[in-house]
Amino acid sequence: MPKENSNQNQNDIIINNSNINSNSSNLNVNNNSNQNSGAFGVPLPDSKVRVTKKPFGIFITPQNSPVQPERFSGYHTGTDFETYPSEQNSDVSILAVCSGKMLEKKYASGYGGVMVQSCKLNKQDITVVYGHLKLASITKNVGDIIQKGDILGILGKGYSSETDGERKHLHLGFHKGTGINILGYVQNKSDLSGWLNPCDYVCF
Ligand SMILES: [Zn+2]
Repeated sequence: MPKENSNQNQNDIIINNSNINSNSSNLNVNNNSNQNSGAFGVPLPDSKVRVTKKPFGIFITPQNSPVQPERFSGYHTGTDFETYPSEQNSDVSILAVCSGKMLEKKYASGYGGVMVQSCKLNKQDITVVYGHLKLASITKNVGDIIQKGDILGILGKGYSSETDGERKHLHLGFHKGTGINILGYVQNKSDLSGWLNPCDYVCF
C-alpha cells in the first residue's frame, strides 16, 4: 500500500507538469471560442487524473464500491474527483467550471455542503452540482453571477460533518434543464438520461 501510494505520487507529479502546459493552451483556446462547450474549465487542477474511483454512470453497491465502507447504491449521476494524500490537511479550492448564477447553497445529507449553479452548455440549460464543499467557505450567495474559474470555496474536511462523513473529494454533476436536482445516484439506468457526463467537458 505505501509503495503504491508513492508510485502514484510520482506519476501525479509528472502529469501535473504536463497539465500546467495544457491548461495554459486551453485558456487561449477558450478566449477565442466562448460560445462552445470547450469554454468549460476544470474544477481543480489535474482534474482528469483525479477520476479514479467513481466516474459518471458507474453502478455502485456497498459490495462492489471502490470506496469502503460504502453507504450508497445506484447509478452515479456525476463524476468524483479525488484528492491526493498530501491534500488531506490543506485547503483544496474548487473553481467554477462555467459562468452562471448560483441557484442554491446548503447543507444536504450525503454531501455536507453542496452548491448548485445554472449554466449554458451548447445553448442548453444545465444545472451544475458541486458536492462536499465546506459550506462556510462558499462566500458567494444565491443569485450571484459566478464566472468560470472563480473560486467557489474549498473542499470539506474528509470524514467530517463538512462532507457528511465522506472522504475529501468533489462530486460534480451536470443535470439537464433548469430544475435543481442534487441526487448523487439514481436507481434506474434510464434515469441517467437526465444527466450529462461532466468529464466530457471538464476533464483535462
Ligand atoms: Zn459522487
